[in-house]
Amino acid sequence: MSGLFEAASAPEAADHVCSAKGCRAIARHAVVWNNPKLHKPERRKVWLACDEHEKSLADFVALRGFLIEVVPVEALTSADG
Ligand SMILES: [Zn+2]
Repeated sequence: MSGLFEAASAPEAADHVCSAKGCRAIARHAVVWNNPKLHKPERRKVWLACDEHEKSLADFVALRGFLIEVVPVEALTSADG
């Protein structure tokens, strides 16, 4: 197991809100993507997603070939954003 207790006590944990338009739900997932036409290969763009919107946001970037991975928000690092 990795970091459940650390995540629960992290001050920014409550600030993760879903990136879907109009959604204010707490995000539990992070869709990590990169557009090679706009971003350097090492750049990791992140969309936060609640349980409801995880699939639609991931599908949106996956259809365009931009999807890198979907991870729990707790797994994000300061290099993501
Ligand atoms: Zn949402």
